[in-house]
Amino acid sequence: MQFNEFNLTPQLTVNIAACGYQTPSPIQEQAIPVALTGRDLLGLAQTGTGKTAAFLLPLLHHLLAGQRGNKPRALIIAPTRELAEQIHADIGKLGKNTGLRSVSVYGGVGKFGQVRAFRSGVDIVVACPGRLLDHLREKAVSLAGITHLVLDEADHMFDMGFLPTIRQILRQLPKERQTMLFSATMPQELRRLAEEVLCEPTTVQVANSVPTATIAHVLFPVEQPHKAAALKAIMQANKMTAALIFTRTKHKARHLATQLSKAGYSATSLQGNLSQSQRQTAMNGFREGRFKIMVATDIAARGIDVSSISHVINYDVPDSVEAYIHRTGRTGRAAKNGTAFTLAGQEDKPMISRIEKTLGKPMRRENVAIDQSVADSLPAAPAPQRQRPRQPRMGAARR
Ligand code: ADP
Ligand code: MG
Repeated sequence: MQFNEFNLTPQLTVNIAACGYQTPSPIQEQAIPVALTGRDLLGLAQTGTGKTAAFLLPLLHHLLAGQRGNKPRALIIAPTRELAEQIHADIGKLGKNTGLRSVSVYGGVGKFGQVRAFRSGVDIVVACPGRLLDHLREKAVSLAGITHLVLDEADHMFDMGFLPTIRQILRQLPKERQTMLFSATMPQELRRLAEEVLCEPTTVQVANSVPTATIAHVLFPVEQPHKAAALKAIMQANKMTAALIFTRTKHKARHLATQLSKAGYSATSLQGNLSQSQRQTAMNGFREGRFKIMVATDIAARGIDVSSISHVINYDVPDSVEAYIHRTGRTGRAAKNGTAFTLAGQEDKPMISRIEKTLGKPMRRENVAIDQSVADSLPAAPAPQRQRPRQPRMGAARR
């Protein structure tokens, strides 16, 4: 199938080519024709399958065919600032030379720039729920002209507790509209929301949980205390253009990034405790290649799309198969090849076998020679059951 078979507005076809997209991805192939009819859509597909263009292309096409005005006509709701920025940037590319204007709206930055954009007139609002609701309460923007609504990464919005806010926003939207909801999974609560917002939707789905074939999955059996040294050895042995490393906690992410920097790597971290401008600096630095390594937690990494990521490293094994698929979906994007390394100890065995079941094959086992001398220069795992100091027994000593 070719993009020109969709009969999109010619400028869009030009922009698609300029993005380097040659053929539609499976979710695009299924979703675009349905969305072009104006029907409601439920799109289920994993990260990295091309969902953004799947909803943006029909959306832009409809907006170009419709009546221009000064009120926003399309609203895209996304769970994180990074994702909102990403979608906004994609609108810039796919909507180039169309005259359509979009604004990204999220918290942690001043409201004024957003308000000014509303006043000067925008066609598309890409927003995180909380800040959008603030603007609505302050009557800074009206959603009365919305004809198209997209809820992207709906499962993450649910995880992050946004459903009540989204329900409040929905009350301010016209009933007569096209709604598209995208998600990687459909937990019960989300199914309820989908039933509320979608009207006789068509469901499009691409092969459940099957990660992109362009990713090599490699497992390093390493116990916690040796992970830091193992990581360093792995990084020395592999050429990495950009690596995204996952840790279980924010604290560990920050600590590991600091230690890697001290060890001479250009590393930064992304975790919930950062201010908006710090997040932005970290993200931009990673995207532009100033930092080769980004250490992040699952929540912080949501929606990151840096197409140059060559390696995803699970410093800590994720706590669900889903999270594994999401993490590793950050590499091997589109046509590029990627590698996913997982450092796993004995206690991770049950999760590893669940992940392998989903992958449909075992991960490749590799061993790493650990140089004990570097072990001290990098953080060990969070000091767990520390060996009792050798001390004379203190019998009845109380502490
Ligand atoms: P998702 O939202 O499903 O996680 P994205 O929409 O972020 O996926 O797309 C993942 C990557 O694939 C992006 O870098 C995007 O530019 C690229 N991409 C999307 N569609 C195509 C296509 N048809 N051909 C090539 N690359 C594509
Ligand atoms: Mg997406």
